[in-house]
Amino acid sequence: MAPKGNYYDTLGVKKNASADEIKKAFRKLARKHHPDAGGDEEKFKDINEAYEVLSDTEKREQYDQYGQYFGGQAPPQGAGGPSGAGWPGRGGNVNVDLGDIFGDIFTGGFGGRTRGPQPHRGRDVQVNLDLSFDAALTGTSAQVQIERAEECSVCKGSGAKPGTSAVTCATCGGSGAVSEGQGMFGFSRPCPRCGGTGKVIEQPCSACRGLGRVVRMKPVTVNVPAGATDGGKLRFKGQGQSGDAGGPAGDLYVVTRIKKHPYFTRDGADVTMDLPITVSEAALGAQITVPTPGGAKVKMKVPAGTQSGKTLRVRGKGAPKLKGSGSGDLRVKVKVVVPEELSDEQRELFEQLAEASTGDIRAHIT
Ligand SMILES: [Zn+2]
Ligand SMILES: [Zn+2]
Repeated sequence: MAPKGNYYDTLGVKKNASADEIKKAFRKLARKHHPDAGGDEEKFKDINEAYEVLSDTEKREQYDQYGQYFGGQAPPQGAGGPSGAGWPGRGGNVNVDLGDIFGDIFTGGFGGRTRGPQPHRGRDVQVNLDLSFDAALTGTSAQVQIERAEECSVCKGSGAKPGTSAVTCATCGGSGAVSEGQGMFGFSRPCPRCGGTGKVIEQPCSACRGLGRVVRMKPVTVNVPAGATDGGKLRFKGQGQSGDAGGPAGDLYVVTRIKKHPYFTRDGADVTMDLPITVSEAALGAQITVPTPGGAKVKMKVPAGTQSGKTLRVRGKGAPKLKGSGSGDLRVKVKVVVPEELSDEQRELFEQLAEASTGDIRAHIT
C-alpha cells in the first residue's frame, strides 16, 4: 500500500501532540465526518486510520521513525524497523469506546443499532385558494383539494400483492442495516435492498406498485378567518401529508388570493377606493355618502378646497385585521371630475367664475 498522507496532518495535531490532544482531535473529526452524520466516508476512513496508529504508543513510535504507513505489512527490508507485526490495516481493530465518542449524537449506541423504518414527519402541502372580496373580508369555510398519500386499500398498506406477504430481506437478514468500512469500527447504513425496513416485497401490490400508499386528491375543509389578505399564507397545522412510521403529519399552507372588486382594493387591512367629486364639491366642501367594504354606508366630509388626488381616511372602516383586533381604514382617493360638456347655464356660471378669479395660480412657474 502506498504511504498515506501525514497522520498528524490528518488529525490536525502537532507532531508532539499528547495522547489526550490526539484523542480530542480524533473525537471532533470523527463526529464531523462520520458517514451516519452525513460526512465523507473516505475522509472518515483516513481519520480512523490516523487515529489507529497515533493512539497506540508503540505504533506511533514506529510511524514517527519511518514516517509512513506500511499497510499492515512489516516495514520493507532495510527500513531498519522492527518486524511490522501489529500494524493496522483498515481491517485492524482499536479498542475505543464508541458509545463514549458518539453517544451524544447517536442515541441507542453504535454498531448494534438496528434501523427499522424511522418516523418521518409528513410533507407540508401548499395550495392556492381564490376568495371573493367579501368572503376574504368576513371569513369563510372553504374546501381545498390536496394531494395526500393514503394507505392502499387493496393491500391494506403492506405493499404486497393480496395473498402474499413481505419476506425477510436476505441482504441484511432483516435488520435493515448493513455494515461497511471494516476499519477499527465499521458503521452501518440502511440496507440498500430493503431500504432499511428489513423486509422485501417479492410480489408487489399492483394498485400501489408495492408502496403501500397511494396518492389521492383529498378535499380538506379549512376555516379562513376574517381578513385574509391577497397573497397571504394561512397555516393549518397537521393538515398536510401524514407522517411515516408514527411521525407527525405535515402542515397545510393555504395561500389566499382575493378576486378583484369593482371599486375596492385591499391593501392588507386597509381598503382603498376612488371617489369622483364635482368641481363645486371640491371647492365648497361637501358631505358625501360612501360605501364601505362591510356593506354599510358612511357619511364622509370632503373639506372645502380639496385637491384632486387627495386621499381622505375613514378610520376603522377597512377590512378586519387578520392578526390583532379592529379593522383597517377606508382610504378614499378623491378625483375631481371636470364636466366635459356644459349646459348654457353652467357655461354662464363658469364665465362668471372666471371673471371673479383672483391671483395667478401659475405664478411659481413663470
Ligand atoms: Zn397496495
Ligand atoms: Zn435489507
